[in-house]
Parts: sequence; C-alpha cells; structure tokens
Amino acid sequence: MKKSLWQKDIIRSNFKTLNKDIDVDVLIIGGGITGVTTAYNLIDTKYDIVLLEADKFFNGTTCKSTGKLTYLQDLKYQDIYNLYDFETAKLYYEAQKDGIKLAKKIINDNNIECNLIKTDSITFTTSKKEVPKFDCERKILDKLNVKYYSVSNDLNQKDIKSLILVKNTYVFNPVKYLNGILNVIKNKDNISIYENSRVRKIKKENNYYVAYVNEFKVKAKKIVVSCNYPFFTIPGFVPFKTYMEKSYITATKVDYIKTISGITSNYPTISFRYHVDKDENYFIYLNNSSKLCDKLNYKKNYNECVNTAKKITGKVANYKWTNMDVMTNDFMPLIGRVSNEEKNVFIATGYNTWGMTNGTIAGKIISDLIKSKKNKYLKIFNPSRGMTITKFKNFISNTVISNTKAYSFNLIKKNPSWYKNKACVTKINGKRVGIYFDNQGNKHVVSNICPHLKCFLTFNEEDKTWDCPCHGSRFDVFGNVVRGPACYDIKIDETKE
Ligand SMILES: Cc1cc2nc3c(=O)[nH]c(=O)nc-3n(C[C@H](O)[C@H](O)[C@H](O)COP(=O)(O)OP(=O)(O)OC[C@H]3O[C@@H](n4cnc5c(N)ncnc54)[C@H](O)[C@@H]3O)c2cc1C
Repeated sequence: MKKSLWQKDIIRSNFKTLNKDIDVDVLIIGGGITGVTTAYNLIDTKYDIVLLEADKFFNGTTCKSTGKLTYLQDLKYQDIYNLYDFETAKLYYEAQKDGIKLAKKIINDNNIECNLIKTDSITFTTSKKEVPKFDCERKILDKLNVKYYSVSNDLNQKDIKSLILVKNTYVFNPVKYLNGILNVIKNKDNISIYENSRVRKIKKENNYYVAYVNEFKVKAKKIVVSCNYPFFTIPGFVPFKTYMEKSYITATKVDYIKTISGITSNYPTISFRYHVDKDENYFIYLNNSSKLCDKLNYKKNYNECVNTAKKITGKVANYKWTNMDVMTNDFMPLIGRVSNEEKNVFIATGYNTWGMTNGTIAGKIISDLIKSKKNKYLKIFNPSRGMTITKFKNFISNTVISNTKAYSFNLIKKNPSWYKNKACVTKINGKRVGIYFDNQGNKHVVSNICPHLKCFLTFNEEDKTWDCPCHGSRFDVFGNVVRGPACYDIKIDETKE
C-alpha cells in the first residue's frame, strides 16, 4: 500500500508479536491515536495494561490523515444543532477545544517534536447554494461565542462564495506525535506492547474477557476496542450506525508555506494544509472524498487528485495515498461503553474524519470510565444513544444505500478496463474467487468474499489490494488481511479446490 508523507518518520521499536498467554487488568486493542492516548492516560495508575497492534506501528488511519487539530470542522455545529439541540452542539465544541488542549499538553509535557504549527482554519464553498448554510453556521458560532472572520488574506477569493475563518487551530505530524507518546509509555513497568498481534475474537467468561490472538489468549478485566472499526458486529451494532468515507491525498514539496488550512463544506470535499519540517515545505491536498461504495476507479481518482495538486503548485506530487474513516449517521462519534450490558468493554469510533481531536478526547473519556471518574462528554458520545426519525432517514440514505450498492454491483465485471486484464473475479467449484496476475505472470487466487460481513471485494489496481467497498477491510494479493474490520485472511488452499 502507498505510504503517507508522515510514515517516513516512523521510529521502529520492533515490539514482539504476542507469544504467550497473559492476564491483565486492561487490554487496549489498536495502536492509533485512540489506543495510544488511552494507554497514556492510564499509565500512571495501578492497572496492568497490554496494548495490542494488529500491524506494525504506525500504519492505521491516524498516520494517513491530514493532521489538522481544529474545532472548525466543515459545518458541523449546524448538523449537530439541527439533529439535536444547542446544548449538544456546545458540548461537542467544548470537547474539540479540550481535545486540542490535551494534545498540546501531551506535546509540551513530553517535549514531543511533531511539527506543531498554529494556523487559521477555514471552511469555504465555491457553490452559491451553500451560502445560506454558512449564514446559519455563523449564527451558531455567535451563540458559542466563537470569534470568526468571513475573509482570508491568504486565499484568492475569486471563486469562493462564502467562508468562515477561525484562529488558534493547529496542524502537526501525526506519526511524530504518536512516536512521541509511544516512547513515553513503552518504558513504564505496567504496560506490555505487542505488534503484529491481531485480535480475532473476544469471549466473555465469568467476570473477565478473553481475547484471542493466533494461538494465544489475553485475559482482561476491561477491554478498550480502539481499532478504528470494531471487528465484531454485536455488541454495539456499529455497521448499522455508520458508513465509510474514503479520500485521495497528495503532498507536494513547495518553496513557500501559508499558515492556513481549509476544507470545503460540500461534497466532493477538498481539503488542504501546509507542512514544514526542517528545510522541507509541503502542500497537502485532498479531494475525491466519497462513500466507500462510490468512486471505485482508484487509478482515475488518484490521477484527478495528482493533476489538481499540480495545477495549484506547478509541481508533481512527491507522495500520494488514500485514507478512510468511519462516519456516523448522526454526526457524533461513538465513544464509551459498547452497550448497556457490557459495562467493561469500551469502543471509540465514528470520528467523521475528525479523529485528531475526537481520538484524543476519546482516550480521556475511556480512561476516566476505567478509573470510575465522571466525564461530561460521555452523554453526547454514548454509543447506545437512541434512534430518531432523522437518524433513521440518514441510516437509510447512508448505511443501507451504501451497503446495498456495494453488495449488489459486481463492479469488477462491469469495468474490466480498469484492471487491464491484471485481475478478474470468477467462480471455481461454485465459490467466488478473485484472481490477480502479477508481472511475472504468476496467478494469485483468493476468496472474493470479505470474512467480515460477506461483501464482495473489488480489486484496487493502484495499491494491488482486494478492498471491501462496504466496511473498508483490505487484503493483499496473497490473501493476508492488511486492514480491518475483517480479522481473517482470504487465502484459498488451491490443492483442496
Ligand atoms: C482522508 C482523511 C483525512 C483525515 N484528516 C484528519 C485531520 O486532518 N484531522 C482530524 O482530526 N482527523 C482527520 N481524519 C480522521 C482521523 O484520521 C481518524 O478519525 C483517526 O485517525 C482514527 O483514529 P483511530 O485511533 O480510531 O484509528 P487508527 O489510527 O486506524 O488506529 C487503529 C489501529 O488499530 C489496529 N487494529 C485494527 N484491527 C485490529 C485488531 N483486530 N487487533 C489489533 N489491532 C487492530 C490498526 O492496525 C490501527 O493501527 C482524517 C481521516 C481521513 C480518512
């Protein structure tokens, strides 16, 4: 898979793969911003902790994000206000501000060098139709006492129909940030950390849980599921509350920077920021955001992103990559106890592409729950919050329509030209398989059905992976799972076929 700009800065610690049964107080599953921040917040307690990462650190969503730490998140406050009320929008705003404050405190307390820069943040639109929404957002920002501006000196405003600018937001390098936190926690006596240790199943036994990693077991009193998309459906029913969104991103070396980052309010989203590291400046540009089941012509989407970045900078991008995140039907993350019944299993997901602040605050909320401390944000993020008519409508238009599209279109057969005869889907002995022919003419046959919830997989000719258009699982051409929620491979033993 293509690497992001940040991943060149990963400092390898070479943690072991889980190689024995262990018994702990708290098991944290997943080493992205959520898992690592939760561990950080628990490290000075009496608890014995284990952190398990399926892959090597750091390859997850956090390390492929655009790394903005901001409380201006497109037109989020009116979405929340319209679906809930002002109080909920206010608490969400306070949570984002606290997320920024906490991340800055972690950076300062531990002298983490992560290219943190203060920037202005803008939300803008080039569509006249969006303008009334900006007026509405301004009214809510007024009520929240947020100071904002409607012009920016840093932008050519010729095509911009409306914009909102706020100050005191930040951008950083998320990999350097996570490296820094991991460095602090790995030296503590009460935590063990393992890589290449994918949890495949959790079972409840009396008053504890058992997590299975290959042939080994972790027995834990409390479990934090911080793996971006939980690998189980029940409890929590996350696939029914969410859908996936994917975007294409480029980073291009430039000889100037501006202290501004921005995002459009309307689909398909465009987002940008600048990054400064020693003598290298980059312009980071994101476009072609869509629901996972749409825009599956990966090559075309990459090309569009690269070409537009070239038009803006005059240069060819040095990095290109994709990323996806879990979106909720009510615009609010799911953070807290997975269900009312399972009091000791915690999830944190559904950040709607704003996980730098929400992942940080999730680490605080979940560690507070584990320590039996109160947290004022729990009530707005509670994963068991109820259904309303509007949420149900969003569930139909997002989750149901996306999954129906993804299940029912046999995309690979519809668009064989994308794959230039490199891959196909067919049936062998009645079973649906995907076949990839490598450059040496070797044939790699894998199952074409995602082990998570049985969606058909599409071939991603850019990354050479089989991708699930429903929930985002990915597999290499040999059938190894490289991204969840699926936690089983799709290898086929051809000798048995
Ligand atoms: C294109 C794009 C741009 C974005 N830009 C921004 C931004 O600028 N600002 C912002 O605030 N947010 C941004 N986001 C959102 C943000 O990146 C995510 O919300 C956040 O990184 C999610 O963090 P996480 O810890 O939940 O997941 P991850 O970072 O994905 O971490 C989860 C970890 O769990 C591991 N794992 C998975 N399954 C298992 C298992 N079974 N066993 C063990 N380990 C497992 C994975 O390997 C992974 O390392 C962006 C998202 C996208 C898609």
